[in-house]
Amino acid sequence: MLSIENLHVNVDDKAILKGLNLQINPGEVHAIMGPNGAGKSTLSHVLTGKSGYTVTEGSVSYQGKNLLELDPEIRAREGIFLAFQYPVEIPGVSNIYLLKAALNSIRKYRGLSEVDAMDFLALVKDKVELLQMDEKFLYRAVNEGFSGGEKKRNEILQAAVLEPRLCILDETDSGLDIDAMKIVADGVNSLRSAERSFLMITHYQRLLDYIKPDFVHVLAHGQIVKSGGAELALELEEKGYSWIEERAA
Ligand code: ADP
Ligand code: MG
Ligand code: MG
Repeated sequence: MLSIENLHVNVDDKAILKGLNLQINPGEVHAIMGPNGAGKSTLSHVLTGKSGYTVTEGSVSYQGKNLLELDPEIRAREGIFLAFQYPVEIPGVSNIYLLKAALNSIRKYRGLSEVDAMDFLALVKDKVELLQMDEKFLYRAVNEGFSGGEKKRNEILQAAVLEPRLCILDETDSGLDIDAMKIVADGVNSLRSAERSFLMITHYQRLLDYIKPDFVHVLAHGQIVKSGGAELALELEEKGYSWIEERAA
């Protein structure tokens, strides 16, 4: 599904990613962990096509296409979704309007007709229930005045409605208390399927107690310096990141 080879990325002429390699197959859940400032969010932004991130070397292929050539909106329609570390507020645009417009944009790209209004309402209410949100959130402006945890939950609501093929979650656990994290994890787990892949970025191991990854990678010094199974996250929790950073350096 996703193949990243020798990826080098600069931000403001500063090298942030320096030869990152990562392969993700359909249905796999990969967790990327690493110290603050390691470049985890940079990776998520490069994959979704945010401006200001310059790829100086390497390649990213997604479902056989050169991802780096595609505009951000095409990447989204091709099924790449990012739950932001810092969700943006969009005053004047209701949550339900955004969800419907986004879903229809994806459907149109795939040659499908616009979603029926009643079908859409049923779908979105189903997902709201799944994430144990109040229906009132649908009619409020996107993220405006939402608490940190409500914003994170709203990001997962978007994923649940849009049904991406590659779902990137950037520190979705931060700002969530334990109950909210369980609900979000249940929501994510319900989206797991043999076709859908996840890239979960997290600083802490906690979320991985609830969403069991197939692979765990450590990002440090601009590269994946260590990969393993779910047990690697526990080791990191116990020993921190410094032992890996020292060895990588
Ligand atoms: P992480 O998500 O792992 O904490 P980031 O990818 O956010 O790390 O940041 C990696 C490095 O790149 C940091 O040193 C950060 O300050 C820098 N960086 C990221 N985005 C920008 C930007 N837009 N402008 C300047 N520096 C940036
Ligand atoms: Mg950070
Ligand atoms: Mg980050």
